[in-house]
Amino acid sequence: MANKVAIVGGGAAGLMAAYHAAINGAEVTLFERNNNLGRKILISGKGRCNLTNIKDLHEFIQNIPGNGKFLYSALSRFSNKDLIAFFNKLGVKTKVERGGRVFPESDRAQDVVRALENALLKAGVKIRYGVRVREIIAEAGAVKGLIFYDSDEFFPCERVVVATGGMSYPSTGSTGDGYSIARKLGHTIVEPRPSLVPLITKEEWVKDLQGLTLKNVEVTAYCQGKKLDSNFGEMLFTHYGVSGPIILTISRSVVEHIGKGVILSINLKPALDREKLKERLKRDFEKYSRKHIKNALDDLLPKRLIPIFINLCGLDPEKPVNQLTREERNEIIQKLTDLRVTIIGCMEDEAIVTRGGICVKEIDARTMESKIIKGLYFAGEVIDVDGLTGGYNLQAAFSTGYLAGISAALS
Ligand SMILES: Cc1cc2nc3c(=O)[nH]c(=O)nc-3n(C[C@H](O)[C@H](O)[C@H](O)COP(=O)(O)OP(=O)(O)OC[C@H]3O[C@@H](n4cnc5c(N)ncnc54)[C@H](O)[C@@H]3O)c2cc1C
Repeated sequence: MANKVAIVGGGAAGLMAAYHAAINGAEVTLFERNNNLGRKILISGKGRCNLTNIKDLHEFIQNIPGNGKFLYSALSRFSNKDLIAFFNKLGVKTKVERGGRVFPESDRAQDVVRALENALLKAGVKIRYGVRVREIIAEAGAVKGLIFYDSDEFFPCERVVVATGGMSYPSTGSTGDGYSIARKLGHTIVEPRPSLVPLITKEEWVKDLQGLTLKNVEVTAYCQGKKLDSNFGEMLFTHYGVSGPIILTISRSVVEHIGKGVILSINLKPALDREKLKERLKRDFEKYSRKHIKNALDDLLPKRLIPIFINLCGLDPEKPVNQLTREERNEIIQKLTDLRVTIIGCMEDEAIVTRGGICVKEIDARTMESKIIKGLYFAGEVIDVDGLTGGYNLQAAFSTGYLAGISAALS
């Protein structure tokens, strides 16, 4: 007799689990609280869906700082290459962009969701929309069925894949339900925290720079003088603070320290050491010696930053360059290498991913089955696994979904 498998959640992990359970002979019902599937996939990669990354397994795992090693089996069984082949077979052609990022050739996340939805229907998966699972019922350490919010129904089954996602972008349906479901069954939940999240700053001047991107800068995060993390690349000023690739990456190390005195130090000229920067400034000031300082920094800084920068250095913008004192020049060099902002919060609901979740020690990495309850499987962001930007999180969801689906069908 076919295994009866329930899948809770129709995101990347749940869809992959449902499909692979069904093609491996299980009778599969997928429960999704929304009235459509894959809402988070639709907004991923700014609507283009960065499906995965072509890096080899070793490098791939290095880009998953949150328990990447736990994924070794899942990524070996269903790798980035397997994922690309899988989507190609479903008719979604892919392309590789900067940094090994893989996108659908069409640049449309919608194509990914549609392909998965069609595949599920062809494989015979029953999809129940607008149904929110409340609890998994277990007896004598084994799954017996599901119960729901706003209904007296009991759905009997002996295998369930929990793929309810994390807590970021709750408007997509991921509100952390999987944590309470798993906790009731005896699982440990590692405190969920936002990760890859824009940061809120105290300084008012930041807001005046809204929309300005700084390229090739180095940002270092400190808490009470202790270095937390550092990253090189591109950042963005926003109406609440800072965002952009390097800020999102650094946020992973910063969030838990917010409220304890976190500052970000921005090095605007990381390619130049202090001596070289001094020489560079000397050359620029010789070139602009008859100009006011407000007109002498064009070669060094983006135009919008200049008046704010001069103000932060405590300089009179009308002061002629050839009248700057040594202290004033030193202050310019200091601010060019160490422009500081104070972090007072993060844009929690805009986190790309949730750090924390179901403790990996309580899940069998070879099957995704719970070590506590027989017939209970986990997949995707609900697990305490989180990667950096670049396609790592979706691949983690797809690979764990694949493994959970197959294991639930064949166990
Ligand atoms: C703005 C944004 C952009 C991103 N871009 C990328 C990217 O380009 N590349 C990348 O790799 N990663 C990206 N990510 C991260 C990636 O999208 C997620 O890590 C991944 O989608 C998680 O998949 P999941 O299936 O585990 O969870 P989710 O996609 O969150 O799916 C969970 C599903 O479960 C449903 N659900 C929840 N509770 C219940 C319940 N009680 N009953 C029934 N259904 C329930 C939800 O409605 C939801 O549909 C992005 C994330 C965001 C927010």
